[in-house]
Amino acid sequence: MKGPITTLRERCRKCYSCVRNCPVKAIKVDKDHAEIIDSRCIGCGICVRVCSQQAKVIADSIPTVQSLMQGPDPVIAILGSSYPAFFNDIRPGQLVAGIKALGFSEVHEGASGVELIRRAYQTEIENQEKSATPLISSHCPAIVDLIEHHYPQLLRNLLKTEKKERQKLQDELDQRETELDEMEKTSELWKAEKKECMRLRDEIAGRKEVLAARLGNFLPVFCYPSGDYNATLRRAVEAAGFEAHGLGRRHR
Ligand code: SF4
Ligand code: SF4
Repeated sequence: MKGPITTLRERCRKCYSCVRNCPVKAIKVDKDHAEIIDSRCIGCGICVRVCSQQAKVIADSIPTVQSLMQGPDPVIAILGSSYPAFFNDIRPGQLVAGIKALGFSEVHEGASGVELIRRAYQTEIENQEKSATPLISSHCPAIVDLIEHHYPQLLRNLLKTEKKERQKLQDELDQRETELDEMEKTSELWKAEKKECMRLRDEIAGRKEVLAARLGNFLPVFCYPSGDYNATLRRAVEAAGFEAHGLGRRHR
């Protein structure tokens, strides 16, 4: 899976600033740019901050959200707890109205999710072995990635509740993206077939006009050459204005 940060190759000047500042050594310098090693990256965002060329950017999820909005299901916006600091010059009501105007059906604060998972956390803490303390919350994805990729000895201290829920959501999102890719491929095939059908229709209609001009009393019946036809050709023949069609004799 691609990580949350990507590199715009053409902007990179290979200054090594991101390499020096990455806390987990997740950047290697390739021939022409500094590339992120996704399996090591913890998504802390430091490289985005230190790159003077704006070559490191946060992956854009807007196309995914837009495609979700075109689907049948309601799309809900979840605000991170830091949103009042970021949107400090507008009222909360204005923010919610603006987000809904973009097409989201509901707006919630992420912090309210704590209430939903509180019990699961409580159960997990109660069942935790004493030797696994101190316990570490799995709320922050950067901390979870840091432990999973670089400090696996701390995995037993990591509470799993939120990670499990996040994984479930990620799986659903991945599934949705796969379905959208399939739909896109089907639509490309359909467009190609439509184009071919229109080409055949124009060709057949042109021949029909020539025949009508030569024969005068023209019978609008089309005979498939050698008896070969398929759905695209049949549609093209009908679109070209033939009222009946039938099979010709197959030549051997
Ligand atoms: S800090 Fe920016 S310009 Fe410098 S190596 Fe990293 S990506 Fe390239
Ligand atoms: S996001 Fe953090 S961990 Fe990932 S490459 Fe950038 S600095 Fe390194």
